[in-house]
Amino acid sequence: MPLEMTAVMIGVEDLARSKKFYGEGLGCKIDQDYPNFVSFNLGEGSSSLALYEREAAAKDAGVSPEGSGFRGVSFHFIVPSQETVDEVIGIYRDIYLVRANDEKIFDVGQDGGLVSALLIWGLENGKIDGGLTSKLSEERVWDAEPCVVTNREEVLASAGSRYTYAANPLAMKEAEKRGLKNLALVGMSCQSSINGTLSARNVNKYRRRIQLVIGLLCSKSFTYDGLTKAITQDYGIPYDDVAKVNIKGRFQMWKKSTGEEVDIPLKELHQYTREGCKLCPDFAAEHADISTGGLGQGDGWTLTIVRTERGAEWMRELQDAGWITVRPGSEDEAAVELMRKLAAKSRRRWPGELDKEEFLAPRAIPEKYMPKPKA
Ligand SMILES: Cc1cc2nc3c(=O)[nH]c(=O)nc-3n(C[C@H](O)[C@H](O)[C@H](O)COP(=O)(O)OP(=O)(O)OC[C@H]3O[C@@H](n4cnc5c(N)ncnc54)[C@H](O)[C@@H]3O)c2cc1C
Ligand code: SF4
Repeated sequence: MPLEMTAVMIGVEDLARSKKFYGEGLGCKIDQDYPNFVSFNLGEGSSSLALYEREAAAKDAGVSPEGSGFRGVSFHFIVPSQETVDEVIGIYRDIYLVRANDEKIFDVGQDGGLVSALLIWGLENGKIDGGLTSKLSEERVWDAEPCVVTNREEVLASAGSRYTYAANPLAMKEAEKRGLKNLALVGMSCQSSINGTLSARNVNKYRRRIQLVIGLLCSKSFTYDGLTKAITQDYGIPYDDVAKVNIKGRFQMWKKSTGEEVDIPLKELHQYTREGCKLCPDFAAEHADISTGGLGQGDGWTLTIVRTERGAEWMRELQDAGWITVRPGSEDEAAVELMRKLAAKSRRRWPGELDKEEFLAPRAIPEKYMPKPKA
């Protein structure tokens, strides 16, 4: 009979910590969860992984739990190449931490204000005549809706992050009405994939208009009703007292009236995640020219992944003009590592029942999903 292994068990010192590492950190799906034992289902074709308190495991085996140094066992997940490791955050040229040098831009920016700096630079230097982005809704307080920005004031007014969904590419309609031909698109990962889908669907008229795609790293957005309930009812903060919101391991709000920070644990908000986000595999806005996020360990820097030549050219121009301060991403390894972890976690959301083989090649669209050529 060939050797088979159905379960690997690890004896751990701190079960809660190890459960968090394998469950939340590496995204393993919990199968059984008991006070002194946890097992993970690693999917078809893989042994299950169990964690057991070390002392208890040693007792079961009838040996002493004492011991230090190398245990002679290591666990590996072998991938075909270094590219496969990198690919989890998408193809890129460089990773930076960036801050806008203009104080007004920096102040209104969610992190380092890079996105707003890029838009204003493009508008004031003739690279674009409009930006497709989002603004605060006039009807629904703290909701986001698509908009077109064409000058510095409009960019500044629309800066910062809202955590409900705005379909920014829909602002293309308004841009078309206004005769705007050269545009930058700002959008979460799902929206920043639009250039690829436009050409796949032969809608090149719109694709050609987009001169730059700026992606926002994204693990989820929330339904407006759910977020409203959590903030205004569960936490009793009226919307007109909310000055700024952010997500850094928790949902943060700052009160206008007192400046006080109020935090909501993300697990309380999980129930309000938009349905579509639960299947979204792209954390790192892989198809953007430049992807941006707020994972930096110090406040006020935009974690910036430059992916394409045109993205690199925009960044060079802003830097040469003294608009931005740029630090290498290697100065904040924890941020880059966190991005990889979150990207790997989002990848695992892809529904298991789809034919995995077809999606194995990065960014490949399986034949059956491609539009049929016109007869
Ligand atoms: C819903 C959402 C989820 C995010 N999740 C993460 C995350 O998990 N981890 C992470 O590191 N970063 C996340 N980000 C990105 C982060 O919040 C910042 O947008 C990014 O770091 C850029 O900062 P900045 O200061 O350079 O941008 P700014 O100069 O402040 O510009 C931000 C731009 O984003 C646009 N925008 C704001 N809200 C929305 C919205 N709801 N829909 C579409 N466009 C919008 C604004 O109009 C503006 O153009 C998320 C952003 C959003 C909107
Ligand atoms: S999680 Fe994915 S689908 Fe949801 S808003 Fe973010 S990028 Fe879009």
